Amino acid sequence: MTNRRMLILDDDPAVAQTIQWMAESLAFEAESVTCPSEFFERLDRMRPEIITIDLAMPELDGVEIMRLLAERKCSAQIVISSGMGTRVLDAAQRSALEHGLSIAGVISKPISRDALRVLVGRGSELDQPVWVEEESSNREEVEISKADLQEALDRNEFEMAYQPKVECKSDVPAGLEALVRWRHPARGIVMPDLFISIAEATGLIDALTVQIFDKSLAWFSQSFPKSDMKLSLNISARSLVDIHVADNLSDLCRRYSVAPECVVLELTETSAMVDPILSLDLMTRFRVKGFQLSIDDFGTGYSSMVQLVRLPFSEIKVDKSFVTQAQKSRESRTIIKSIIDLGHSLGLLVTAEGVEDQETMDYLKSLGCDLAQGYLIARPMWGEAAKIWVERRELLSGD
Ligand code: C2E
Ligand code: CA
Ligand code: CA
Repeated sequence: MTNRRMLILDDDPAVAQTIQWMAESLAFEAESVTCPSEFFERLDRMRPEIITIDLAMPELDGVEIMRLLAERKCSAQIVISSGMGTRVLDAAQRSALEHGLSIAGVISKPISRDALRVLVGRGSELDQPVWVEEESSNREEVEISKADLQEALDRNEFEMAYQPKVECKSDVPAGLEALVRWRHPARGIVMPDLFISIAEATGLIDALTVQIFDKSLAWFSQSFPKSDMKLSLNISARSLVDIHVADNLSDLCRRYSVAPECVVLELTETSAMVDPILSLDLMTRFRVKGFQLSIDDFGTGYSSMVQLVRLPFSEIKVDKSFVTQAQKSRESRTIIKSIIDLGHSLGLLVTAEGVEDQETMDYLKSLGCDLAQGYLIARPMWGEAAKIWVERRELLSGD
């Protein structure tokens, strides 16, 4: 039996050492460091399952460290420690979650061994696994290279899953979002968070997007030849530099006899703003050709209301980080309500993603939210299962 590993970063050597002893007494294999460079060097060597970071440090503060960890796609669970007030800790936790890091919790100083134990359990393998995975994804940090992705494209290893969206007031299916997965011959299903950014960085995203659009449209036209269902496709910021993307997508729609009005392109809030002028032109071309445009992950980026009004969106998607927290956080509920009101005042459809419980669904209904998507309704499914799900749902709702 091997013990789980914990790496501790705190600029105060006494505190760092104390946390290390506490962790060791909880059966962790623990190491502590006091400066960021040492931290990253140790991180690569040790590959800890748990990382404890002090928020306030002179050289590079905890928030910055977490950003760097996110860039490295760090999959360790993070414990944020600080002597600052709970508002600061809350904000740091939110920032870490928004960066896609896994947070075990926040802990205020002075740290007690019991508090640490509650957050991270014991260090032995007999306890809860650190990662509770959805689907069969693989979070091991195996390097993915450009050559791997090129090979996967050549071998046609990318497959689409589809997650239904329903109308809030009636629960009737309104559309599906296409989400890519990589069926790796050795590693099983690899989730998009692990390879989309690499495809973007290595210039393969356009080739991948073409495969994704082609597969999704072929499936959609075959599964829902005559219906009002919409197909949502994610489009990367990197693909928005080519003025011809709209033409290419139009050609595909024609080939599969899918009306562009049935296709919703989802752009993340930040991606829409990279080059505001070019983005405006490209997005306008999509709309002129009949496509719907959705602003994804809304609330997490930095766009101003002016930009939202300026760009020709037809839908807002409230980011799941607010929706999944709706029951726990009053602040999240306030944000959800504000986004719905804002969307409606601009004449946009509002979708809430990440709906995981009935209470949240009821809350969204009470606010007049248009569409909902999330595990409560259905998980992403392979094509055939998604088709059957929609047909059943339509039968049940007598549509
Ligand atoms: P996204 O566009 O925000 O997609 C929603 C993500 O939330 C999906 O993760 C989905 O499986 C997950 N999700 C759905 N319902 C729930 C829920 O109730 N609770 C929680 N916690 N999560 C839920 P997935 O499939 O892992 O995709 C991650 C991201 O990868 C997507 O985020 C999108 O940005 C990107 N992506 C996925 N497919 C494509 C694609 O075809 N092209 C591009 N460019 N990006 C893609
Ligand atoms: Ca999306
Ligand atoms: Ca989203």
